[in-house]
Amino acid sequence: MIDQFDTEHLWHPYTSMTNPLPAFKVASAEGCRIYLDDGTALIDGMSSWWCAIHGYNHPVLNAAITEQLGKMSHIMFGGLTHEPAIALGKLLLQITPEPLQHIFYADSGSVAVEVALKMAVQYQHARQKPNKTNIMTTRSGYHGDTWNAMSVCDPVTGMHQIFGGSLPSRIFVPAPSIGFDEPWSDDETAVLKAAFEQRHDSVAAFIIEPVVQGAGGMRFYHPNYLKTLRQLCDAYNVLLIFDEIATGFGRTGQLFACHHAGVVPDVMCLGKALTGGYLTMSAVLTTQAVAHTISDGQAGVFMHGPTFMANPLACAAALASTRLLLDGDWQAKVAHISRQCQSALATLRHLPYVVDCRVLGAIAVVELDFAVDMHKIQQQCLQRGIWIRPFGKLVYLMPPFVISDDELDYLLGEFVALIGDLAGAS
Ligand SMILES: *Cc1c(COP(=O)(O)O)cnc(C)c1O
Repeated sequence: MIDQFDTEHLWHPYTSMTNPLPAFKVASAEGCRIYLDDGTALIDGMSSWWCAIHGYNHPVLNAAITEQLGKMSHIMFGGLTHEPAIALGKLLLQITPEPLQHIFYADSGSVAVEVALKMAVQYQHARQKPNKTNIMTTRSGYHGDTWNAMSVCDPVTGMHQIFGGSLPSRIFVPAPSIGFDEPWSDDETAVLKAAFEQRHDSVAAFIIEPVVQGAGGMRFYHPNYLKTLRQLCDAYNVLLIFDEIATGFGRTGQLFACHHAGVVPDVMCLGKALTGGYLTMSAVLTTQAVAHTISDGQAGVFMHGPTFMANPLACAAALASTRLLLDGDWQAKVAHISRQCQSALATLRHLPYVVDCRVLGAIAVVELDFAVDMHKIQQQCLQRGIWIRPFGKLVYLMPPFVISDDELDYLLGEFVALIGDLAGAS
């Protein structure tokens, strides 16, 4: 189940090479089940980090990729185009807010964030505002691991201490503090307003994960925050970038989290569930105003072009996955998962070491008053036949939307028992 070569030579996400956490060898995965090579079956509570909304080894997605494979797996996007890119583009424009009209395909979420930030700076440059080059964001955000994406991640839980002066210095405002369904108060945005007033001259864009701050703390905040943010961005000529890489494609109960607020960004980043978790791909959508301003600027073009831009296999997977989502009853499924999670988590609130339990859409979070021992909890999950991957004080679920009632009952039952057993672990 643990491979020695892997342990000694292969780096895993956020792990040590001298003191590596075990990585369990997966033989296959099907639906919501992950099969380890010793035959252990695990019910998936993670969707492989927000991605696998239709579960694994899905016949429709398999067929879409196989068909495309018979035509071409890749072709350069410079000077050439292809049907999967076009069909996917049309579909994305149909389902995202109307003002978003232009699409840049990129390779991963982090690259999408890099592209969005570059768009913002190039846009301001084209508007003869060469001083508007900085980026404003909130604390507790997460936008990826590449250089500039890292610079807008939370400066405390992110990697700022290690990378220090090598990171561009960004403008941070406090994280939104009013919860998703708590009563709204305009006081919430006073600091935000002051930051815009003082710093707007140097700011190209404000980047934020709408409604759900994911890897920066799994926090769900009030949609009104985004309404005020939109007004401030308009007032001060700052582009608004929504990072929907985690929240897109139904996870929060709306197709895109921006729908909770009825706010349209100038730039929107999609990734993760875009391909149903089949291949790495992202998309950056923007308005005609931004695209035309950049294109009419001094450079005349947008300065980015990944080698694997609009990879046809990834486009085919994204097209099939998005169609599958839209053709199915995803809203009812997400609402059902949400209700089941709510009643399961309600049984944990009384535990003295549970600080908070929260559910939004198909995301369920238990916040503890201590950081879990990852090694121990992973062994316990394996024994219980479930797959989750907590970080720090946060133990959470985001199962594939296709999870059956039996699987969901099992997952939640074991999840609740697991958290109950943590007593004394602090
Ligand atoms: C995961 C994530 C990213 C980074 O995506 P990668 O594909 O891992 O580069 C960016 N923003 C958000 C909100 C994410 O959840």
